[in-house]
Amino acid sequence: MKRLETPIITEETISGMEDMSFFTHALIFDDLLIIAQKETNCFVLKSTEGLIVLDAIWPCREAFDAIVSAIRDVGWKPEDIKKLVLTHGHADHTGCGKWIVEAYRPQTYLSRRDDRFWQEEPVKKERPDTWKDYQIDVYIKEGDVMVLGDKTIWVYDTPGHTPGGLSFIFPVTEEGKVYQAALWGGSNPPGDLASVTCYLRSLDHFLKKAEEKNVSVALSNHTALDNGLERIAYSQKRMSYMPNIYLVGQTGFRKYCQLFRNLCYERLDALAAEFL
Ligand SMILES: [Zn+2]
Repeated sequence: MKRLETPIITEETISGMEDMSFFTHALIFDDLLIIAQKETNCFVLKSTEGLIVLDAIWPCREAFDAIVSAIRDVGWKPEDIKKLVLTHGHADHTGCGKWIVEAYRPQTYLSRRDDRFWQEEPVKKERPDTWKDYQIDVYIKEGDVMVLGDKTIWVYDTPGHTPGGLSFIFPVTEEGKVYQAALWGGSNPPGDLASVTCYLRSLDHFLKKAEEKNVSVALSNHTALDNGLERIAYSQKRMSYMPNIYLVGQTGFRKYCQLFRNLCYERLDALAAEFL
């Protein structure tokens, strides 16, 4: 049986992040909604005191409209958005936060380092539409928790993809059972040796924390990394006897992390080849 050892990332993967012609969403746990365009996705976590948005797709009105309409579609209220939490300071994650902030005034969260990175090193320097365009209210770091109603999100420093990248662990529920979900905030490894080394260290650190917390749900913020669109399509038509495809167990989460490690090894091989 064919199984991939690394996610497939191509030039199209990168250009697809700006394709706003298509959005999809699914309620993947009773309290967790995923919204995706072709390559990038965000999550909305429902608590007893309101909604927490994790990442915000791309800086454009279409992404905002898609998030709002998905929230309404599952019977929640966008007016209940209380927090906007960002994994890192790239435009495909800071996304349409400007519109969310203007409409609903949530508290915004990111690491101090990546707030500066977002400001000083925009992904597309020649494109003002991708520049930092809203304020961060609260700087978060390793060991912090964000609490809203019955939900607590644990924060971990996972630099490498960006200098101040973060990853999160939080509870989700299905039919009354609580599971711990982990969102690995960094996507593909960077191109220089120091950053790849840093990325690998972060991955080891996060996996250790995930094992301590009995994480059994693997989440990603890019669809190319975890067959995101296929998992969403499956969730939309999942029948009652079918398993939750995000629930991979502790062993599954370890294997999920291995895919990112393999991406790093590929990157290291490419770097080594430059010296041969
Ligand atoms: Zn990124």
